[in-house]
Amino acid sequence: MKVTYPKLAELELRNKRVFVRVDFNVPLKLVGETYQVSDARRIEEALPTIRYVIEQGGKVILGSHLGRPKGQFNLKYSLEPVGSYLSSVLGKDVLLTEDCVGDAPRGLSHQMRAGDVMLLENLRFHPGEEENSYEFANKLAELCDVYVSDAFGTMHRAHASTDGLPRLTRNRAIGLLVEKELKYLAPLKENPKRPFLLLMGGSKVSDKIGVLEYFLPKVDTLVVGGAMAYSFLNAKGFKVGKSICEDKQVQLAKKIIRRADARNVRLVLPEDHVVSLAFGDTQNVSVTQGIDISDDKMGLDIGPKTIAKIEAALETAETIFWNGPMGVFEEPVFAKGTFEVAKLIAKTKAVKLVGGGDSAAAITKAGLDSFFDFISTGGGATLEYLEGKNLPGLKVLEIIERT
Ligand code: AMP
Repeated sequence: MKVTYPKLAELELRNKRVFVRVDFNVPLKLVGETYQVSDARRIEEALPTIRYVIEQGGKVILGSHLGRPKGQFNLKYSLEPVGSYLSSVLGKDVLLTEDCVGDAPRGLSHQMRAGDVMLLENLRFHPGEEENSYEFANKLAELCDVYVSDAFGTMHRAHASTDGLPRLTRNRAIGLLVEKELKYLAPLKENPKRPFLLLMGGSKVSDKIGVLEYFLPKVDTLVVGGAMAYSFLNAKGFKVGKSICEDKQVQLAKKIIRRADARNVRLVLPEDHVVSLAFGDTQNVSVTQGIDISDDKMGLDIGPKTIAKIEAALETAETIFWNGPMGVFEEPVFAKGTFEVAKLIAKTKAVKLVGGGDSAAAITKAGLDSFFDFISTGGGATLEYLEGKNLPGLKVLEIIERT
């Protein structure tokens, strides 16, 4: 049995209204009184599909969510800043509709000419989007002749625009971004070149446990940093002070440690930490001498010995997958671990892949994008894909070939 997906190149697009589900859920910053896009990776990565549809003479109708407006209009989550950015990079007008469904966008969709681009206002201003309501999907279906799924970062959600709408559209395909994500992530999932080093950080073991478990039979070295590491250290009997560490997470960590031992997977944990007295305290910062953290302190970044240990572990790897920051990297005093690790990975000869918004943002901030083989636009979607879960937005487009 072979699973494939319909490709964009197989669709007839000329003069067709082409709904492209994109993931324009990008961070915004307030500049003066207006919001601007502060990290455009997801928009940039959607451009090949948008340009392709334009070149083929299609009418591009873009649908996306932004943030969590919880089913109602909220100016803070308007796609207006995204429309402005898109218009400047495409060098053409991008019409932003006031609402994503109804008479107005439907009328506009019929007035569009080949090559025009229209951006629908935030899909999540309607509760039907997240509820995957048939009525809402039907209203979206009225806007288009063709459906293209290019929102990789949202494919783990069965929402109206990722699941209901493609079910209602006969002419449909994955876009060029989704094709690229699968091109890099599928071989990583199935058969990473060994030695394979998995580097996980961030805050919650429970979010990453699936990926850790999935890769245990395929991984040679597992490096754990970030807040997650304290559950592992606690599980091994070290003192973690006030660091983030919940009993449930410690139990999960114990399970991973047992399985890693049984499989001879090398587990690399922090040997020292950058600590302060509390989350948000950037005044009383110090570095521990060893692994234990005193009762009054909280670990907020990995220390220099740990960075050196990670450097040594990276040396022999042929494949590296990195997800999650090594500390509270949003705060400059706790960002060193994350940026150093990004630099160290960039220097290796391994195939280097990254998933998750925080790690990707750190790489971009350090100007290291070009050293990486692939930076996924997904966070949760990438992790769910890699742990072998079905992504609803992908599943709905599957073509099963019996071999
Ligand atoms: P995640 O979404 O699970 O990848 O977690 C990312 C978040 O983990 C970031 O916002 C970091 O600030 C946070 N983080 C990383 N290390 C620590 C730490 N030692 N203590 C508290 N939060 C952390």
